[in-house]
Amino acid sequence: MARTASGTLHRQRESTAAADAAPAPPAPAYFDAGHWGRAAGDVWSGAWLDREAIAERAHQRLAALLRFARAHVPLYQRLHRGLPPASSLALADLPVLHKSQLMADLPASLAASGLSRTAVEAFIADPAKIGTPLADHYAVWTSSGSTGVPGIFVHDGDALAVYDALELLRFRGLSVAPLPAGPFMASERYAMVAAIEGHFAGIATVERLRRTFPMLAPWVRAFSVLQPLPDLVGQLNDYRPTLLAAYPTVAELLADEQRAGRLRLSLDEMWCGGESLSATTREQVAQVFGCRVREAYGASEFLSIAWPCRHDRLHVNADWVLLEGVDSHGRPVPPGMPSHTTLLTNLANRTQPLIRYDLGDSITVLPEPCPCGSQMPAIGVQGRSDDVLSVAGRHGHAVKLMPLALATVLEDDALVNDFQLLQTGQRHLALRLGRAERSRADAACSALRAYLQRLDLPGIRIDLDPALPHREARSGKLRRVVNAVPPPAAA
Ligand SMILES: [Zn+2]
Repeated sequence: MARTASGTLHRQRESTAAADAAPAPPAPAYFDAGHWGRAAGDVWSGAWLDREAIAERAHQRLAALLRFARAHVPLYQRLHRGLPPASSLALADLPVLHKSQLMADLPASLAASGLSRTAVEAFIADPAKIGTPLADHYAVWTSSGSTGVPGIFVHDGDALAVYDALELLRFRGLSVAPLPAGPFMASERYAMVAAIEGHFAGIATVERLRRTFPMLAPWVRAFSVLQPLPDLVGQLNDYRPTLLAAYPTVAELLADEQRAGRLRLSLDEMWCGGESLSATTREQVAQVFGCRVREAYGASEFLSIAWPCRHDRLHVNADWVLLEGVDSHGRPVPPGMPSHTTLLTNLANRTQPLIRYDLGDSITVLPEPCPCGSQMPAIGVQGRSDDVLSVAGRHGHAVKLMPLALATVLEDDALVNDFQLLQTGQRHLALRLGRAERSRADAACSALRAYLQRLDLPGIRIDLDPALPHREARSGKLRRVVNAVPPPAAA
């Protein structure tokens, strides 16, 4: 099974706009020890800067990125045509970039003018290439289409070096190490439970590190969320991880298994990301595993956006990534208020510059300084909040279905992205599809049935609901997997 771009992507045209763009300098190597060391030094020193120095460092990087994008990337030549020189502009003066614009003409968004959409799509259609470089230089990550549009993001070796350094030195809080082997060689075993059958940022990063540092491979492994839960539990028991990364809904299910005695892990830490981590889930998971639960915030657009300090507040890596929380009219939202969406500017990656890119997430910048003393801004993230479904198994017992797995089946096996799956009864699911996806209704139902069959759940009925996916009125966000079983009537 491979994640491929959707049919809509195939119909979109190749760029013809490259005529004005000067050829970009050669892309940095996929892995270069010198660049990796420089990025580590920069990230280490950045943590000691005060707020003004962080802003100045980011400002210099933004100015250089703007000059580069306008010289070498056709998309920005088009978007920024007629605007004053970069040096006289503030970030807020620049146009917002939406994923649909980026995907409408993928080659025009790249400084790598030799890369065609066909080459990129052939690469991401091949699961054997997960974690390997495209054209020897580029990492390519796909994102789910939680807003209805799947994304393709191309990163260069310099960007990867920055993401690795942020992950190691800020998220992990290590002192500068020449290679990421040290901490793992000691006694740590890292497991990621995720969708691993496509070129997603998480699995692609795990595979890249395993290939770049083969000595790490026994200590770093990924496990598929698509397999039956008893199989996953057995594999984790055999592997005995000490660090486990998972979506919060997956962590909750694993906590149920641990509580029931079927899963027997001794964890030092659980890392949760990809969905909202509620205080209840954090407490339950921490209590069951007897370990610290840390929230992570990253995206296919920038791998390590923020890290949790010892007070469990998420600090933005503001020297390398700019976040602007804005309301539904694109106006800045003051600290303490949740944003409608967030505009991201990636200061590390030049191959596919993202400048004021609409990320779709809602963030709240925390108004008060964090007691940890970090000068990087602290935020709260209101991420996806899909439901874990609980359906009746073959013998009437409850079987939990993970939203990440259901969404991955629909996206990868049926190539539908604009959907909403509702549980309407113990044995009933209802699928709503966006208008553009309705021709794939049979494929979507077949993919779900095949998945339920693999889980030994033959008695679950799937109906097509003619309604469109229902977005939340306030945020416009789509909850894609929803428990809509009416609560039992009060006695
Ligand atoms: Zn803090």
